[in-house]
Amino acid sequence: MTSLARSSYRVVVVGAGVLGLYTAVHLARAGAGPVLVVDRGFLSSGASGRNGGGVRQQWETRATVRLARESVAAYRRFGLDFGYNIWFRQSGYVFLAETERELTRLRAVHDLVVSEGLPSEVLGPERVAALVPGIAPGASVGGTYLGSDGTLYPFPAVWGLYEAARSLGVEVALGVEAVGVDAPAGRVAAVMTSAGRVEAPVVVNAAGGWSAEFSRRAGLTVPNVATRHEIFATEPVKPFLDPMVVRVSDGLYFSQTMRGEIVGGVTVPNGHGVDGGMPTSPRFLTGMARALVLLVPRLASLGVLRAWSGFYDDTPDGFPVIGEDPRRPGFVHANGFGGHGFMLAPAASRRVAQAALGERVDLDPATFAPARFFSSDRPTSVERLQLG
Ligand SMILES: Cc1cc2nc3c(=O)[nH]c(=O)nc-3n(C[C@H](O)[C@H](O)[C@H](O)COP(=O)(O)OP(=O)(O)OC[C@H]3O[C@@H](n4cnc5c(N)ncnc54)[C@H](O)[C@@H]3O)c2cc1C
Repeated sequence: MTSLARSSYRVVVVGAGVLGLYTAVHLARAGAGPVLVVDRGFLSSGASGRNGGGVRQQWETRATVRLARESVAAYRRFGLDFGYNIWFRQSGYVFLAETERELTRLRAVHDLVVSEGLPSEVLGPERVAALVPGIAPGASVGGTYLGSDGTLYPFPAVWGLYEAARSLGVEVALGVEAVGVDAPAGRVAAVMTSAGRVEAPVVVNAAGGWSAEFSRRAGLTVPNVATRHEIFATEPVKPFLDPMVVRVSDGLYFSQTMRGEIVGGVTVPNGHGVDGGMPTSPRFLTGMARALVLLVPRLASLGVLRAWSGFYDDTPDGFPVIGEDPRRPGFVHANGFGGHGFMLAPAASRRVAQAALGERVDLDPATFAPARFFSSDRPTSVERLQLG
């Protein structure tokens, strides 16, 4: 059984996914003192090892565009920062509209993205056909494109962060579960783990799809809901597709890896909660294959090599939850990232570290702070571009 090196830490981070590890790196770089990351699984067993690697800055709200833009800058530096090549290819994201109404929505996204200094383009059908070779005639009335969006390989990113955290003195204990929080006077004093009790004034909930479960273990009700999403990879085919492609109507998304596989998914109704585990379904396989082949008929002969699934951790307003929970001082949320936590992690985790250190979090609290869900002053801002 894993034993821990110390009996007290400055911060305990629950979850060694991209959010937990990035947060630990920021904390260590800030000289926070002893930091422990626990994960009951193995590295990349959560959504951070199960995603499509998409990184985009096209969003419907300014707040998300800004977090994403900052994260893109961080991923560009990742190799220099951490010594790992994450193959971040900025070969763009194409959003496809099938109707004029969808195109109007995308134009509004474009206007916002351009106002933030990013050179998004509105596409007509010919330009769509040039960017998505082989797209079925008439499949799209147009779309948007941002060339500095792209894709990366999640595994070296997680591994690089793990190595960086450890080299900075962070203790990462895999196979260790956080089972509860001891808060005798309402404030976090210790975290109960499967390897024993550790004293800590701060615990960070970076438990991904299981974040609501861990919040409940600390006596906190939260609105986060886990939803299972499936994804597949085909056998490789000669590279023909540069951008990630996302269809607005149903969230169908796919990209081509450097090796040539088509990797993508589409949302099928899988219900809520983590209890059913992470299987894949015939409904997804057939639904995804049919949707993809109707959109790009030349892919019809490809075999599916592998399918898998993982959990999104969804919030009612589409924004992540970042910051200390006022109901339980010392309990910091780093969760609710839906299907987009990888692309927001570098910037978001910097703010999580600020919260863990008791510093001012430089994000709008009405948009990101946990109190937005239970204060009387509820926010009206919602991030709806939860696609792909
Ligand atoms: C199919 C799919 C496709 C996706 N595509 C994209 C994409 O293209 N781009 C993008 O940006 N995002 C994508 N995402 C979302 C992205 O993967 C997640 O938002 C992100 O990885 C979340 O990271 P995390 O660190 O919060 O959670 P995770 O990576 O899930 O890590 C949480 C960890 O917490 C551990 N844990 C849970 N409870 C406990 C406990 N009590 N004690 C100890 N450990 C615990 C788990 O074992 C797990 O390892 C996708 C997700 C899925 C499922």
